[in-house]
Amino acid sequence: MHEMSVALSIVDQVEQAARSRSACGVRRVRLDIGELAGVVPDALAFCFELACSGTVLQGAELVTGSVPGRASCAPCGRTWDTGMPPDMICASCRGGATELLSGRELRITEVHWAADSPAPGPSPAPAPAPAPATLHKES
Ligand SMILES: [Zn+2]
Repeated sequence: MHEMSVALSIVDQVEQAARSRSACGVRRVRLDIGELAGVVPDALAFCFELACSGTVLQGAELVTGSVPGRASCAPCGRTWDTGMPPDMICASCRGGATELLSGRELRITEVHWAADSPAPGPSPAPAPAPAPATLHKES
């Protein structure tokens, strides 16, 4: 499942950021998803919840924004919305020298840390060894 690997990668990135700032919780993660990234937001939200389980992101909300696909034609300079599936042929000159300007994004734009972070001190406690992620299955 493509969305699961995306979700795991998001959780991984946020966990690293959380570790470097000794954050103990995450309220919300904002993510820009390109129209052409091939990610279904609903499926990603589902996988994100699973991927967060047992991590510092547990219970975090995923807020996604959509980035439209835009292409430009190198020879004639025309730009257009690619739509989905993407139209990569220039309608003016039928050229194929098309450059994709946007639409493949998978970008964390904002992380809301939990307010109850540990008090900042001169010597932060060493991070505990990460517990192995376990996936609880309802039976
Ligand atoms: Zn063109």
